[in-house]
Amino acid sequence: MNERTETLRQAFGERYGQEPTAWVRAPGRVDLMGSHTDYNLGYVLTLSIDRDTWIAAAPRDDRLVRVASLNADTFGQFDLDAIGHSPEAPWVDYLGGTADALIQAGYSLCGCDLLVHSTIPLGSGLSSSAALEMATALAFSNLGGWEIDSLEMALIGQRAEHQFVGVKCGILDQYTSALGQAGSALVLDCRTTTSRPAPIPDEISIVICDTRAKRELTGGEYGERRASCEEAVEILRPYYPEVEALRDVSLAQIEQHRAELGETRYARASFIVAESGRVPRLAQALEQADASAIADLTRDSYLGARDLYAIGTPEMEAMWQAMWQAPGRLGARQAGAGFGGCMVAFCAADQVDAFRQGVQAAYQTTTGIEPHTYAVRPAPGASILNLASDMTVA
Ligand code: ADP
Ligand code: MG
Repeated sequence: MNERTETLRQAFGERYGQEPTAWVRAPGRVDLMGSHTDYNLGYVLTLSIDRDTWIAAAPRDDRLVRVASLNADTFGQFDLDAIGHSPEAPWVDYLGGTADALIQAGYSLCGCDLLVHSTIPLGSGLSSSAALEMATALAFSNLGGWEIDSLEMALIGQRAEHQFVGVKCGILDQYTSALGQAGSALVLDCRTTTSRPAPIPDEISIVICDTRAKRELTGGEYGERRASCEEAVEILRPYYPEVEALRDVSLAQIEQHRAELGETRYARASFIVAESGRVPRLAQALEQADASAIADLTRDSYLGARDLYAIGTPEMEAMWQAMWQAPGRLGARQAGAGFGGCMVAFCAADQVDAFRQGVQAAYQTTTGIEPHTYAVRPAPGASILNLASDMTVA
């Protein structure tokens, strides 16, 4: 029995006066390449990480779902026959939305008491929301005694976020949390929602560098970027009827119609097409431990995100400079949707400590903010925790 299990078990007992009977986990994730390419139906190189969300659960004999989280001060509940929003505890909507989407899909849910605990930083681009949705779906599946296909579970989580939370996210976060594989990243094709494993050699470490500059993404900038991409598609389609998404467009076509697109849509579209193209190239560069390709591809990704897609912030710039100059660095770029939050670096596995120290010192000198940096390892997708054997996971 490890410390995390014991903490959850004790808190569960204090809140609900009984023992949890089901335990599930779902990982966070980081994109190694492919910012904002998911909703453009392009490619993403995505990694499920050994930071995850656990839910301990026990069934009830009514239709009530009570929810608490060790990561939140507030708690909430909803009735499975009339799931409403929880304005006083907005985070509960991720669970309510997932329950609602499961019911819409025809699954039969039972009332329960749930306690959440996550080691994923919330709201930092490592998909704590998707992990919460995937863990919720698995908890209901486990309590209800039915099984759910991992891809369907990912789509259910996406629907929850679209319909209940109001974030029109792509499928990337949920897909990775549900279908991630131990030991490798995934090259995800967001058009076909299929993926292939992309192994990460042991000599390369992946280090998350959290700017700790909070980002807010509920519509706003995210919606604007999405709209620019959709408008670019509408402008190009009359010339190329086969174009359904930026996935189908080439850089030459964008160049040719630059004037019609206008500078903003031109810049946004150029970034997406180039970024998606970098995904298979980085997968190969990592597999071959090709240091110069890793450096070139990640630098181009960051500069494009900053200058063309305009999702940078001063803290991200300070972090990128810090990462780029740190000892052992192989590559460095943004992660998640940008606008602060976490960034991701590749460094030589035997220099992780020196790399982290270099990043911490340089970033703190420039910004006055103490960053969080930590190496992550590829972890398996969402699963039921077996109390007897699995308690060593994360
Ligand atoms: P990200 O998914 O990158 O972490 P989001 O803004 O999409 O960022 O989701 C973060 C939100 O998800 C939090 O603000 C909170 O509402 C909810 N959330 C995620 N994990 C938890 C948790 N363990 N406990 C409570 N709320 C959580
Ligand atoms: Mg999220």
